[in-house]
Amino acid sequence: MIFRSFTFLSTTTILTFNDFKFDSSLSEGLSSMGYKHPTPIQEETIPLIQLNHDLIACAQTGTGKTASFLLPVMDYICKNKSRPLISALILAPTRELALQIDQQVEGLAYFTGISSIAIYGGGDGVGYEQQRRALREGVDIVIATPGRLISHINSGIVKLNEISFLVLDEADRMLDMGFKDDILHIVRQLPQNRQTLLFSATMPPKIRSFSKILLKEPKHVNIALAQPAIGILQQQYRVFDEQKNELLKDILKDGIYKSVIIFASTKEKVKRLEIDLRRMKLNVRSFHSDLGQDERQRILLDFKNKQISILIGTDVLSRGIDVVGIDLVVNFDVPGDPEDYIHRIGRTARAETTGTAITFVNNKDYKRFQSIEELMDRKVDIVDLPEIVGEGPKDTFYKNISKGPKRNGNSTNFKKGSRPFNKNKKPSDTKNSSDTTSSPTPNVKNSNNNHSKNIEKSVNAPLNKESK
Ligand code: AMP
Repeated sequence: MIFRSFTFLSTTTILTFNDFKFDSSLSEGLSSMGYKHPTPIQEETIPLIQLNHDLIACAQTGTGKTASFLLPVMDYICKNKSRPLISALILAPTRELALQIDQQVEGLAYFTGISSIAIYGGGDGVGYEQQRRALREGVDIVIATPGRLISHINSGIVKLNEISFLVLDEADRMLDMGFKDDILHIVRQLPQNRQTLLFSATMPPKIRSFSKILLKEPKHVNIALAQPAIGILQQQYRVFDEQKNELLKDILKDGIYKSVIIFASTKEKVKRLEIDLRRMKLNVRSFHSDLGQDERQRILLDFKNKQISILIGTDVLSRGIDVVGIDLVVNFDVPGDPEDYIHRIGRTARAETTGTAITFVNNKDYKRFQSIEELMDRKVDIVDLPEIVGEGPKDTFYKNISKGPKRNGNSTNFKKGSRPFNKNKKPSDTKNSSDTTSSPTPNVKNSNNNHSKNIEKSVNAPLNKESK
């Protein structure tokens, strides 16, 4: 079996889940979840965790990273005769991610009797009381956002001094969100002899220095060099801002895509887009921080159950939504952080499926999009604008920007030789590309889609490493 959506092939022998000798109740859970073979990250990390090592894993969402720490942790809990009040603490940056992890625990734990709770802020008083009771009476796995856990710790009811595992999921995101002090405060409540597992999509220096404080002689696993899943067909449109609405409407008008997420840069824009698309009688909802926690959860559930076809949100949405069968992600605006692009488009083509990711690139965002391509070490197909939208900015327009003088003190120069879009290149020039994902063969779902047909097939070359 080939994991089409997992970019990296493991160098180790392909294992089966039987090789991990999990408790039989956990193996039953695995079968009922439909997991047949471990993904590369699971192959790498599970044996190390089973050997009691601390671990730093660089892995992106969509690789099966959640199960890569949940499975050995849950196996340990199953086999541990004397269970403490709380066995494992998992810290996550957002409530959406905490809930998603909790859902995976529930699925995998179905036959094991392992209990879990997601602890996050923003809910009503009832939720807070339920959390308090669970923490007081004991629950095997606590999945928490740092801020809310601290308020429970401060109220004196949480006993974390017997936990065996601390997992930090999306550690880079937690540091970016300013949780460093909260995490350190929480860690002071934990026993020294715990096992610590740190997962991060990126490994900037601040994560390395942070891990030195928290982990003991960790093993390193590096699965994700920020490569999106290979099942994703990536495309970009060069547009003026004024054309974006029309283009979006044109993409959505035929209803080819059944489950769509649209990312925009601000919640004002998100709300405006919702109104616009509703006028087209599309089944659309916006998702932003002005909505109450219950409403946000209901919207996510409706989207998951395909009651809502189109969800529009800011980057709050880009992590922590585990919905199978999203067939289109639209970046209405290029994300500020290249890593966010990977997270956004990772919402489609989850585990073994395919999907399309379309990005609207205006002249201001061109440089930023180029950084994304450099991060991925590949280029994204440029698609011609449909006639109804009118002419977009010319390639020469971007070229001028690249060669133009510094503006506002920011250099806009490209690296020498890295100008990516050589429209005159013949397809044969690119056939040795290692980048099979950017093959102009669209996924089957999109074969009737005009937007996919507009791909300029000759612009698929990977970035020229020599020129970097
Ligand atoms: P994650 O990277 O943890 O967000 O997981 C992405 C998706 O892959 C989730 O929907 C998981 O349920 C699914 N998944 C995880 N491990 C496996 C596996 N071994 N086989 C098939 N699907 C998996």
